[in-house]
Amino acid sequence: MQLRRRQFEIIQEHALKDVPYECCGLFAGIRVPGRGGYENVVYEVAPCANVLYSGKEHGFEISFSEFIDVEREAQRLGYEVVGSYHSHIGSPAVPSNNDINFARPGHSMLIISLQNMQPAAVTSWRRRESGGFHQESIHVIE
Ligand SMILES: [Zn+2]
Repeated sequence: MQLRRRQFEIIQEHALKDVPYECCGLFAGIRVPGRGGYENVVYEVAPCANVLYSGKEHGFEISFSEFIDVEREAQRLGYEVVGSYHSHIGSPAVPSNNDINFARPGHSMLIISLQNMQPAAVTSWRRRESGGFHQESIHVIE
């Protein structure tokens, strides 16, 4: 996946602001042909509320209505929702079972891990249309 440095900073700021809870948000952008069929290119980052009823320290949920709102706004701009991001507080940037279940086909899932209030690791994962769930590279551009 690809995103701009400024968007990457927005995600880091969101993650730090929401401690001790996981932050979450959605990516709007386009798919361009690339390795593995195509690459998700992010043009807009939409911070969302973590509406998980309990256990927000180690889980997240984006409400359906907020997802629909972001999707509509993305389409208005000529984009689509191409993925999501969320933070892990004090645990590695590795998807949990719930994360894997949340990931939609074709979407990128970026995870930023915070250790001692510092970004420690960032990974991205993608569920392929064919079903597999794999780590993918992150290209941060200026
Ligand atoms: Zn997670």
